Amino acid sequence: MPQDYDVIVIGAGTGGYVAAIRAAQLGLKTAVVEKQKALGGTCLLWGCIPTKALLEHAHALKIAQHAKDWGISLGQAAVTIDMTQVQARKDRVVTGLTKGVEFLFKKNKIDWIKGTARLTGNGGVDVFEGEQQTLRARREIIVATGSAPRGVPGIEIDHTRIITSDEAIGLREVPKTMVIMGSGAVGVEFASIFNRFGSDVTIVELLPRLVPVEDEAVSAELEKSFRKQGITSHTGAKVTGAKAGGDGVDVSVQLADGTTKNIRTDYLLVATGRGPVTTGLNAEGVGLQLEKGYISVDPLFRTNVPGISAVGDVITFGGPGHPQLAHVSSAEGIVTAERIAGQESRPINYDHVPGCTYCDPEIGSVGLTEAEARARGFDVRVGTFPFGVLGRAKMAQETDGFVKIVADKKYDELLGVHMIGPRSTELVAEATVALRLESTVEELIRTIHAHPTFAEAVGEAAHATHGAAIHT
Ligand SMILES: Cc1cc2nc3c(=O)[nH]c(=O)nc-3n(C[C@H](O)[C@H](O)[C@H](O)COP(=O)(O)OP(=O)(O)OC[C@H]3O[C@@H](n4cnc5c(N)ncnc54)[C@H](O)[C@@H]3O)c2cc1C
Repeated sequence: MPQDYDVIVIGAGTGGYVAAIRAAQLGLKTAVVEKQKALGGTCLLWGCIPTKALLEHAHALKIAQHAKDWGISLGQAAVTIDMTQVQARKDRVVTGLTKGVEFLFKKNKIDWIKGTARLTGNGGVDVFEGEQQTLRARREIIVATGSAPRGVPGIEIDHTRIITSDEAIGLREVPKTMVIMGSGAVGVEFASIFNRFGSDVTIVELLPRLVPVEDEAVSAELEKSFRKQGITSHTGAKVTGAKAGGDGVDVSVQLADGTTKNIRTDYLLVATGRGPVTTGLNAEGVGLQLEKGYISVDPLFRTNVPGISAVGDVITFGGPGHPQLAHVSSAEGIVTAERIAGQESRPINYDHVPGCTYCDPEIGSVGLTEAEARARGFDVRVGTFPFGVLGRAKMAQETDGFVKIVADKKYDELLGVHMIGPRSTELVAEATVALRLESTVEELIRTIHAHPTFAEAVGEAAHATHGAAIHT
């Protein structure tokens, strides 16, 4: 006899585990099948949490390296980083959080079934490679099987010298040199981590600018700041070959001017994106419509097969650009659980999804870039305020960057806010609420920002959009 549940979730990443908790809160008997030894998926085990833990170490090292500026004496001792301790602390943070999810499962009476799930049709799920059993979902199955690092044709990832983010988070040495292929969020975060730890970092980006999804002004500022910090960026450039051998990798790069540069490096980190995980799921066997391996869903995350929904990194709406972000997967999980429970649910507005990149300096953005707003036909006006003149930023000695506001001239509607600089990944929350509430720039101007704070830069950028910044 199969074990019956109202909802069966496959995958305990930020999409799956949040969907399960919400379903259980709404009174649905819920099970989660997860094949890893710990809950939390990519975000907790290999993604957001380990990388940001390493970035906190990088930040601590930066303060220690500039101890003199802060009037702190460290004597004659050289400031160094101990990777064994770094890794141990990072692992403690990860373990604490995965145990936290386990606790939440117990609290909400969610069964964690340890194993790999396979869809069998009509609400059925077989669990193999673990606690083998047959399950049946009375109401719905939610597929949240996520994503995994994607390689590049012609570059063989050996996971030792030619690595992905999965290996980079666990390095127990500071490489002398590292080449990073791809300058999306993952690439530039690792560039900041290892540059600060002492590696000589080179980024190779195929597109003409770093962080290509960001506003062009943000990309230019990051490139400038990285140059100052000693990170080399080759944009419009392509890795044409990589051969691991001995203690390193020989990398061939075709530069933007067509010449070839050969680089011998300790590690090549391939950070060119992630692809969907559906292996072993029998997705096609039960008739799920796939597009380039991603599961096709409608705006309420229903697949073409009644009784099966999908959320998170594994889904596509058909067009390009479903954001692979933890908070997006969680929001989708909540909408899906609420719909299954019979609550009113509405599609997510993906124009209002904040994106945060935790490189140094940090990037926070939400809404349309200036180029996107123009492409959609808005009569655009922009306002920018630099952190360099802000009291709080001067105190923190973090003066690179700016806040840029993109607005519609006709109705003064806020269309996008893009920032690079200190605390940008926090400051973007205010901008996200403003966009969600369809605020005007005038409303941001009239919002009183406490002094002295980094958030004043957002208020000042609003003033600048009306041509009247107070402090520039
Ligand atoms: C280095 C890195 C840094 C990142 N940093 C950030 C960040 O700062 N902020 C942010 O928002 N996002 C970040 N992300 C992205 C974020 O981690 C993902 O968007 C998010 O984890 C997606 O969640 P998910 O639930 O869709 O899938 P996943 O987290 O990938 O979870 C899927 C789960 O399903 C399980 N699974 C798969 N198939 C089966 C099966 N057949 N049976 C049972 N279990 C199965 C897997 O083991 C996995 O645990 C980062 C990603 C990386 C790689």
